[in-house]
Amino acid sequence: MILESINKVKLYRLLFSFDEGLAKEKRAHSCPFCGAPLHTSNYKRTPRGGPDDIPEMFSIRHSLCCSAENCRRRVLPPSLRFWDRKVYWSIVILVTVVLQQDRTEGYSAGKIIKMVGISRHTLKRWIHYFKEVFPETERWKRIRGRIGAEVDIGQIPSSIILFFIERSGSAEKALTSFLQLFSGGADVF
Ligand SMILES: [Zn+2]
Repeated sequence: MILESINKVKLYRLLFSFDEGLAKEKRAHSCPFCGAPLHTSNYKRTPRGGPDDIPEMFSIRHSLCCSAENCRRRVLPPSLRFWDRKVYWSIVILVTVVLQQDRTEGYSAGKIIKMVGISRHTLKRWIHYFKEVFPETERWKRIRGRIGAEVDIGQIPSSIILFFIERSGSAEKALTSFLQLFSGGADVF
């Protein structure tokens, strides 16, 4: 059920529309470095791991640029689709790690690697991130207070996804909620 989500174009459309909203919100503010107005300065990305038929526009990274001649700094709005500079879609990374942690869906590491087209090393790096790095981040501290105490910290992100699935009854809603929290873009609950 979770794996199917990453092949649904409509989910990418939904994530794109969230990102569009976040970019609009950010644009309403001024440059954090000099206070000048911000201009739109989107650019193309070619994220990996999603279905082949995703319309190109859903791969555009919303971005802003300071309008002041002597500043011109780039300001990146939060994104549900892109996770920093990682080359895979955020949702692909998330689903991959969840499937690896939560064996109830019956996917072995070898199977996951093949399906998503990643190396064993990449999978290890993502798992390591959620196990060792993520619990120490500001991102996690921000999320922690918003979810129930019953969530098993040793099993994030899958424990959070399962918790959200229980509440919403939908894998796609659960994944979207997680990405909203993860990106820091919105208050979901
Ligand atoms: Zn500026």
